[in-house]
Amino acid sequence: MKAAVLYEAKTPLKIEDFDLPETGPGQVLVKLVASGVCHSDWHVAKGDWPHIPIPTILGHEGAGIVEEVGANVRGIQKGDHVVLTWKLSCGVCEMCQRGFPNLCDLPPDTSGLPRLRGTGQTMNKMVGLGTFGTYTLVPQESVVHIDKDVPLEQASLIGCGVMTGVGAVVNTAKVEPGCSVAVFGCGGVGLNCIQGAALVGAEPVIAVDILNNKLEMARLFGATHTVNASQEDPVARIQEISGGPGAHYAFEAIGLSGEPFVQSILCTRKRGVTVYVGHAPFNTPVALDARMLMHEKMVIGSYYGTARPHVDFPRLIKLYKAGRLKLDELVTRVYSLEEVNEAFEALAKGEVARSVLALG
Ligand SMILES: [Zn+2]
Ligand SMILES: [Zn+2]
Repeated sequence: MKAAVLYEAKTPLKIEDFDLPETGPGQVLVKLVASGVCHSDWHVAKGDWPHIPIPTILGHEGAGIVEEVGANVRGIQKGDHVVLTWKLSCGVCEMCQRGFPNLCDLPPDTSGLPRLRGTGQTMNKMVGLGTFGTYTLVPQESVVHIDKDVPLEQASLIGCGVMTGVGAVVNTAKVEPGCSVAVFGCGGVGLNCIQGAALVGAEPVIAVDILNNKLEMARLFGATHTVNASQEDPVARIQEISGGPGAHYAFEAIGLSGEPFVQSILCTRKRGVTVYVGHAPFNTPVALDARMLMHEKMVIGSYYGTARPHVDFPRLIKLYKAGRLKLDELVTRVYSLEEVNEAFEALAKGEVARSVLALG
């Protein structure tokens, strides 16, 4: 197999040849067909996330076709189409039993690591998946079976960005119809918060960004209003659009600095809920006036859109097939594996909703 390896932060990924270990009990070998290029991969490549060990094969938003199943694998067979989930759960801890497998402490699987051809050195895979490659060997729990008539380039995006954004609205915040929603940041995740808000009947749906091309995309995904935060104060504008008191819900999907996070709290009304979806770099300070929360405002985090992958992925696929979830529009560009560094450049410049690597 081939895969794109990050050897050192701030250096280009390198395409390498690997040998795969034998498919063991409970494991599934997936021939990857598509992988989304997510901001989290870019965070690791830039050196923002020292907790991810490198060198590593990046990529964690993948879809493909089952090539081989190990002993004791039930319900999945060769030829099945699957979307990968990067969060494993044990099923028995407190969080799992309370219905939040996304918050399970189980670490990424490290039993199916490929070996660098020539040296035999085992290679890490980003959150146990490493989807910037032609194959990945994963535990059965990591694969979610989907219908064959769904294009895999589109389906791959459900594995991270779509689940994270739509899930933050539907699962984490449980936004009610008719409530006002503001979304800060219109990247891959923010656009999915916007389409999640549109999906549940929020009104208005206000998109905030500093790039006009992203605000145009936001309209396509269901934003009823757009605010360019480099030209006007987003807090005042959101209050105005929502009729004075501010939004019922705000989603912070930028995660680059503390300022938009503070704005996403200021822009909500009494008992407003701010959902922190973005991943800020480590030790990002936030200056909050404590009195800001006095009127029962709530600030909550959202991790992987409170995903229950084996429940939520099939639902998202169903919505896509019914024409109610936009995936085609998310795929702005398709690159080959060899062009992965160009895909990162496009991401860094904010040129795309999502780039997808076509792998096979
Ligand atoms: Zn658990
Ligand atoms: Zn991701």
